[in-house]
Amino acid sequence: MKYKIDLHIHTSVNPHAFSTLEENIRAASKKGMEVIAITNHGPALPDTPHWWHLVNISILPEVIDGVRVLKGVEANIMDEYGRLDINQDVYSKMELVMAGFHIVKGYGDNLDKERNTKALVNLINSQKVDIIVHPGNPLFPIDYEAFVKNAKLAEVAIEINNTSLGATTRVGSLENCKTIIELAKREGCYIVLGSDSHYSGHIGDFSRAEKLVELLDYPQELVLNSSKEVLEKFLNRRKELRAVNVE
Ligand SMILES: [Zn+2]
Ligand SMILES: [Zn+2]
Repeated sequence: MKYKIDLHIHTSVNPHAFSTLEENIRAASKKGMEVIAITNHGPALPDTPHWWHLVNISILPEVIDGVRVLKGVEANIMDEYGRLDINQDVYSKMELVMAGFHIVKGYGDNLDKERNTKALVNLINSQKVDIIVHPGNPLFPIDYEAFVKNAKLAEVAIEINNTSLGATTRVGSLENCKTIIELAKREGCYIVLGSDSHYSGHIGDFSRAEKLVELLDYPQELVLNSSKEVLEKFLNRRKELRAVNVE
């Protein structure tokens, strides 16, 4: 396996995922993963635990079974202002805040490209997010040029989601992801491959995303999965940028 860092993993506290935290960590350790992030969904989706769960992830040790376990969340974008569905208590405990579009109550028309772009740009510029997940989702069209340029300026990373490139979820993402990677390469953005694992066997599976990134010859020093050093540099910088925005 080429990349030993996977920053997008769900555990069975989201009932549509099938492995517990311990099963995931054990599987990651067995595969020789160096860093994983636990990133369960924010509370706006129906199949999520009480927000106390997200807060309490902070009790976990930094390293378990030889794997660095980052405490994260996959938050939901709630409106055109780019507000997220996590409160300050959750936010302040997170080592990694990822966010993206999902169908959530109250968001409004998911096909409104202008509005989606506004939401995303506002969120990025608020500096409250480290990684934007699955932006190639055809259910939420966006202006890729504006998205990528703002991500670069705000030093926010862009995820290439391996699950999106399969046959079952967010179908139609492939061409969009190609466009995003091309623009991101031109601008010099950080990207990150995410397995979006909902089962421990899928941790570190970047088979489809990896091909795309290789095909477009993406510079490895901008791929967060490529080494602990690249990741650490990114996270340290994100910490500085996020600190400005703590309420
Ligand atoms: Zn998602
Ligand atoms: Zn996910």
